[in-house]
Amino acid sequence: MTVGTRVGMGFDVHRLVRGRLLILGGLEIESTVGLEGHSDGDVLLHAVTDAILGACSLGDIGDYFPSNDPRWKDADSNTFLQEALTHVEDLGYEIVNVDTVIVAERPHLGAWKEGIRSSLAGMLDVPADRVCVKAKTMEGLGAVGEGRAIEAHAVVLLQSFRDEAPKPAKAAKSVKPAKSSAKSSAKPTAKKAVKAPAKSPKSVKSRR
Ligand SMILES: [Zn+2]
Repeated sequence: MTVGTRVGMGFDVHRLVRGRLLILGGLEIESTVGLEGHSDGDVLLHAVTDAILGACSLGDIGDYFPSNDPRWKDADSNTFLQEALTHVEDLGYEIVNVDTVIVAERPHLGAWKEGIRSSLAGMLDVPADRVCVKAKTMEGLGAVGEGRAIEAHAVVLLQSFRDEAPKPAKAAKSVKPAKSSAKSSAKPTAKKAVKAPAKSPKSVKSRR
């Protein structure tokens, strides 16, 4: 990929059922019903993950984490998000901003929006002002409006941290000189030389 910016969109919907936790953007929401799913059912993280994969032209979450794979039973959806973020970094991109909409008739999410936003920003490892979480209802229409499901939409914008594509050694030097920790690991291959400046080794590790 050689272009400077890339956009991706994501969408997801899960049924609301009793006996499940309601987790949105990694935050547990007080509710009498939760989202059904093979994983933890975090519909917002799934939409954001799909938006990120889409921006990278890498397919969708189901390609990486099939719902019939027992490994992902009740999985923390942050695992999926972190996998997608690894691809962003490997391709030489970083997140500019993420915009989302959660559509839910119940529970009322107005009071939770800010908490969800900070949780999501933390998982994305970006400042909160790069993330927006909006909460809407369906005005009583359809399955979501009847309180039987919650859906989420997400758009993500990525930008390349390379000046231009593949002149790895030089690009690595010129783009983010401040993160000097990258220099020591910039030798082995051209690919690594480009990848390294994206994040400090510490921040990469903390995501896992
Ligand atoms: Zn999902």
